[in-house]
Parts: sequence; C-alpha cells; structure tokens
Amino acid sequence: MNLHTHTTFCDGKSSPLEYVNKAIALNWKFLGFSAHAPLPFPCEWCLPVEKVSNYCKTIKDLQVAFKPQIQIHHGLEIDYLAHLGYPCLTNPELNAADYFICSIHYLPSKEKSTTNGEYRYYEIDGTYAQFMLALKEYNYSLKKLLSAFLQSTAGLMSSPLPNNKPKIIGHIDKIVLHAIELPEFEELKDWFYQKLLQLSISNRENFDFIEINTRALYHKGLNNPYPHVQLIESLQANQIPLMFNTDAHHRNELEAGVQDCIQLIASYTAINTSQIQKACLPTN
Ligand SMILES: [Zn+2]
Ligand SMILES: [Zn+2]
Repeated sequence: MNLHTHTTFCDGKSSPLEYVNKAIALNWKFLGFSAHAPLPFPCEWCLPVEKVSNYCKTIKDLQVAFKPQIQIHHGLEIDYLAHLGYPCLTNPELNAADYFICSIHYLPSKEKSTTNGEYRYYEIDGTYAQFMLALKEYNYSLKKLLSAFLQSTAGLMSSPLPNNKPKIIGHIDKIVLHAIELPEFEELKDWFYQKLLQLSISNRENFDFIEINTRALYHKGLNNPYPHVQLIESLQANQIPLMFNTDAHHRNELEAGVQDCIQLIASYTAINTSQIQKACLPTN
C-alpha cells in the first residue's frame, strides 16, 4: 500500500491506470493517488486548476472499475501556506477528496510586500538556488529559516481539515534536503528535531499519521528518509502512528526505498522493524 503517488496529472511520469495495473501486479489491496493540489500562484509541478475535474473523475472512475480487485483512494497532497492555511480547500471538488497529505514546500516572506500588500512565498525544496533565496529572505540565518519552517509546521498540524478526513503529515523535515548542505545545520539539528518531536506530541490529536517518506533515499541521494531515523525512533517511542510512503512519481517507484528504509531503521534504532512493517504496511 502506498498513499503518496503523483501521476501525469501533476509532475508524475505514469498515468493513474498504469499505477493501478502495477499495484495489481504487486498483489496490493490498496492504492492512493495524491496529486499536488493547485496553489494560489503559478506552480509547475501542481495539478493545473483546469484539470481538477478530470483528475477527480479519473480516480473515481478507476475506484469503481477496479473495485473487485483493489481499493483505490482519491487523495491529494495539499500545501500549508503560512498566513493562508490550506488555500486549495476552498475548491469543493478538492475538498471532497478521501484523504489529505499535508506538506510544506514554501515558506512566507517575513513581511508583506509593499507593492501588493501580500506575502511572497519561497520554495524550500526546489533547486539549491531557490532555497538560497529563502535563506536570503531570512538574513542568511539558517536558525531563523528553520524557525519559520517549524512555525509553518505548527500551523499545518493544528489546522483542521474538512469533515475530519484522514490527515497524513507529509515529509515532515523536508527542509533538511538543502539545509543539510550548510555547515551550520550540524549544530542546529538536535534543536530542530527536538522541536519537531515536541510539535508532533503536542498535536497528536490533530493528525492521523506521520509518513516515513522514502523518496529522500531512492531519489534525492540523502542518507535518511524523511524524517531522519532518530526522529522516527522518538515518534515510535511516543506511539505516534507512522506510515511508509514512497512519494512515487513513476509506477516503478511504488515500493522504492521501502526495504532499504526498513534496514536502515533496524541498523540505527532500537525499533523492532517487524512491528513497524505491521503498523505501516497493512497486509497487501
Ligand atoms: Zn511533497
Ligand atoms: Zn509528493
């Protein structure tokens, strides 16, 4: 099972039908689709607004057509934007999804723009150059940028979703993708992960799962999944429900990195991985 997948409707390389056929070949009983919901500004990896209806219809049609073989879930990956919340949820079609993966890909400017009176948003997991623009906005202080990320994470976790739909926290420490390249991160990382743990514990009632996202391992060249295995260990120790997702952008990535991730968790933590497999990979 995998609830974090991107198709050709947004920035993925396989069609929804190709994913379904692959999941059936793997003998899966569940599959979820989580297109990047549109943002209130141009975004090249998002589902374009004019394709929203077609996306929702395509997934629902597959849900019906394949019902005897596989349970298909119609989800979305939605961005939390500080000061705006979850802007895509004003669209009733998006609002009606089965579940939501809540993620941060952007951080706000410190102040509103003097030209249009609105906040600007900086992408933090795009190119390194884009990340550096965000860092520049925070006076080249990594601690201030990480603090802004933590503040957004607090908002993401505490903001309710419509009708109490299942809420999965997506790649909770994604900012490390580029932050890790700065030497200052080394002395900030214990503080940063402690804060993420505190937020997860204090918001425990406000979400359903935190995902263990393997894309960091198989695609981004990092030594850890999102989040870092030490945080996975602390989350598990605090009985916070975890779920493996691969953030697949191609049908062949449906299981990518999961076995490596399980081995990594077994090598670096005291977690009994057979337990985590049961908890996070429901029998498929
Ligand atoms: Zn994402
Ligand atoms: Zn994603």
